Amino acid sequence: MTKIKNYINGDFHNPIQDNWLDNYNPSNGDVYGQIPNSSKDDVENAYNAAKAAFTSWSKTPLDERSRILIKISDLLEANLQRFAEAESKDNGKPISLAKAVDIPRAASNFRFFGNAITQFASESHESIEPNAINYTLRQPIGVVGCISPWNLPLYLFTWKIAPALVAGNCVIAKPSEVTPMTAFLLGEICNEAGLPKGVLNIVHGLGGSTGQAIIEHPDIKAISFTGGTSTGAHIAKIAAPMFKKLSLELGGKNPNIIFADCDYDDMLDTTVRSSFANQGQICLCGSRIFIEQSIYEQFKVDFVKKVKALKVGHPSKSDTNIGALVSKPHLEKVKDYIKIAKDENGTVLCGGHVVNVKGYENGYYLEPTVIEVPNNNCRVNQEEVFGPVVTIMPFASEDHVLEMANDVKYGLSATIWTNNLKRTMRMSSQLLAGIVWVNTWMLRDLRTPFGGVKASGVGREGGFEALRFFTEAKNVCIKY
Ligand code: NDP
Repeated sequence: MTKIKNYINGDFHNPIQDNWLDNYNPSNGDVYGQIPNSSKDDVENAYNAAKAAFTSWSKTPLDERSRILIKISDLLEANLQRFAEAESKDNGKPISLAKAVDIPRAASNFRFFGNAITQFASESHESIEPNAINYTLRQPIGVVGCISPWNLPLYLFTWKIAPALVAGNCVIAKPSEVTPMTAFLLGEICNEAGLPKGVLNIVHGLGGSTGQAIIEHPDIKAISFTGGTSTGAHIAKIAAPMFKKLSLELGGKNPNIIFADCDYDDMLDTTVRSSFANQGQICLCGSRIFIEQSIYEQFKVDFVKKVKALKVGHPSKSDTNIGALVSKPHLEKVKDYIKIAKDENGTVLCGGHVVNVKGYENGYYLEPTVIEVPNNNCRVNQEEVFGPVVTIMPFASEDHVLEMANDVKYGLSATIWTNNLKRTMRMSSQLLAGIVWVNTWMLRDLRTPFGGVKASGVGREGGFEALRFFTEAKNVCIKY
């Protein structure tokens, strides 16, 4: 049994009330560890440690903060195998994915923000009046809260805490209680890298109690949250009257739009990936696939053939393409959506069933599923399923597909496949989404703004946007 502890003031602590939660291994359904079910008092301890560390950390020279973050990045890379194993076991994702993407990207987050802070220039203006100058100070906010989901556990956790820390804030962070392991291991790495005590504090527990204590804390001045849209709305309601700064990265229901003039083979391979990577549990997955009428029947045959060839298996096996879903309740939710789609006259073209992986019969495995839907209004096209389930349907014209793509409450990302430049320009400007990919998917450059419109969120992360969020701008005007 692995017993995870809270990381507060540089040390590892049991929860004050000695209250624990079970941690499940999704690949076999076993309980393999326990995590603190932290109370308000644990959050208060974390806050006190963070507050005490702030004066010194906020005055620590930029190049020292930068050096520590880059050291954390180096140590994550040096511990790649250990972190990838832990992530795969906790989340159910194939270890190949954790090793190639999740952990390297977590390391990149620290390296990127460690470097970015040294380039983060503030503005200065010769004043309109004679003999006066304005400049802007970018100052750390104080103690900030970072709350992250279970789908890309360390990757999204560090995407928040790296910019928060390097900007000079002290942090109280809560990973999802479903996937706490790599956040726990990160504490050791931070100590080894020389991060001063209390600068980062990691408190484990349930969203409704531990998370709630963070968002309700009157002196935690900013909340950076990634998770579901309804949780985001709940957080906004609590944070707004307290005037907390808020960054919300929420759900998605992203269109993948395929025109007949695209590079077909590249599109097909990437569409398999954008549909089923991480068991479809990525907010950016293209879960609604729209195909131009003239190639619809061909696409249907070719896509289904490729999807059927994907191997569902134990996450630790090198030939596994689809691992386990994160939890039993989540598996049930995804299965319900397959039933709902059938009830709404959807046709399951492949998949749709639970998979018994030999030796791991209690794991949460589901076949990658492709559903042909009769229209864009059905629930499976309007609501976030967040699993290995995609829908396909044909479209007649550019206007038709644009209308369907935008006719959804979410607006996180969109993908277009075409070689027509004018169409690319028209579509990318009219799609209601925070990110548009053309002839690719999930190609990320950390300097670019990341986030959604409509119910997909408020604010942008990434690059200088994140550093702006985690600092307060102060205008200084000097008359000389
Ligand atoms: P949730 O909203 O359920 O949870 C996200 C985090 O918030 C978890 O740490 C959770 O804790 C915590 N939480 C829950 N309730 C509260 C509360 N009242 N106060 C404070 N914290 C709370 O999302 P999931 O973990 O299920 O993640 C999946 C969702 O995340 C999907 O909708 C997905 O689209 C979205 N997502 C968005 C991304 C983006 O960048 N836009 C990226 C990745 C995912 P606990 O787990 O303990 O309940």
